[in-house]
Amino acid sequence: MPVMNKQILLASRPTGAVTPDNFRLVETELAPLAQGEVRVRNHYLSLDPYMRGRMNDSKSYTAPQKLNEVMIGGTVGEVIDSRNDIYKPSDKVAGMFGWQEYGTSDGSVLQKIDTSVIPMSAHLGVVGMPGVTAWYGLNNIIAPKSGETVVVSAASGAVGSVVGQLAKQQGCHVVGIAGGPEKCSYVRQDLGFDDCIDYKSADLPAALKRAAPKGIDGYFDNVGGPTLDAVMLCANPFARIAVCGAIAGYDGEPLVMKHPTLILISRMKLEGFIVSEHLEVWPAALRELGILVATGKLKYRETVAHGLASAPEAFIGLLKGRNFGKQVIKLI
Ligand code: NDP
Repeated sequence: MPVMNKQILLASRPTGAVTPDNFRLVETELAPLAQGEVRVRNHYLSLDPYMRGRMNDSKSYTAPQKLNEVMIGGTVGEVIDSRNDIYKPSDKVAGMFGWQEYGTSDGSVLQKIDTSVIPMSAHLGVVGMPGVTAWYGLNNIIAPKSGETVVVSAASGAVGSVVGQLAKQQGCHVVGIAGGPEKCSYVRQDLGFDDCIDYKSADLPAALKRAAPKGIDGYFDNVGGPTLDAVMLCANPFARIAVCGAIAGYDGEPLVMKHPTLILISRMKLEGFIVSEHLEVWPAALRELGILVATGKLKYRETVAHGLASAPEAFIGLLKGRNFGKQVIKLI
């Protein structure tokens, strides 16, 4: 009896906002394993904002997602068959199999994960790529000192939630920016930030001045646009801004920086980074994040959608802020 693999392909490139028509669900028969190959049943698929950029055919830090191919994406799952000496059935692995139920690999882009203490899905979030992103941007670009004020946008999300908690542990005054009262109260009460501003209802520069009375020393920017402008207006001399993402512009909205001269006047540092270009920090970052999660010192939250077919709507929701914490798809 052949095993069928459900996959979601990029059917067309979006013009503006992503729509369900940009994706196509197909079923293909799995081929028998060749010598050296491993077959994985994916349990969770990660949905991440960077996927929106890959859907465009425009200049970026990496090549676009090809049309009619399986959408790119991080996955975690279990080895169910192996003709590879390194992997055996029941091994738990993280991979980049994309939006599909099964993955087949020669073992090269796979990583064994330990799910005995930390649940499998967390390896796509707090102890995965988003966690390392937070760790890198905070420690290597903002490099805060105890007592400084650090602000982070998309603060309830996969990256932002880790940034703020790590900054608190380093003795900083931490202010989050998030969309809506529910997310803000989670950021304050559950994650322990000093304050959180609802950018959808506040006058952002005024609210930042109140929440950060000594000015802003470090900003972890996940959104760009008017939020970045507001933070720059409140930044102290020699502020460091880790430019991590610009989700406010991912659907093509123009992101105009209104006060570029502040970079000079305040002698600011703005530094963009791509976490996959800093593989040297991953082992140390993952070790530290894993210990913090296992000891209850780093909290995280997930939004889980069920079944591969739910991925397009969940992804559209992620880009509109409907997720609350790390967005994953449970595939099994
Ligand atoms: P999140 O889990 O934070 O989800 C995205 C969140 O962005 C939404 O929940 C929403 O939160 C917020 N958002 C959506 N649209 C807007 C908007 N127009 N203005 C302001 N906020 C908006 O995602 P991640 O934590 O995974 O990613 C956060 C950022 O980090 C993204 O920009 C992503 O591209 C970037 N990133 C960069 C990496 C790198 O290597 N440079 C690696 C990984 C991520 P809310 O409801 O609060 O608005």
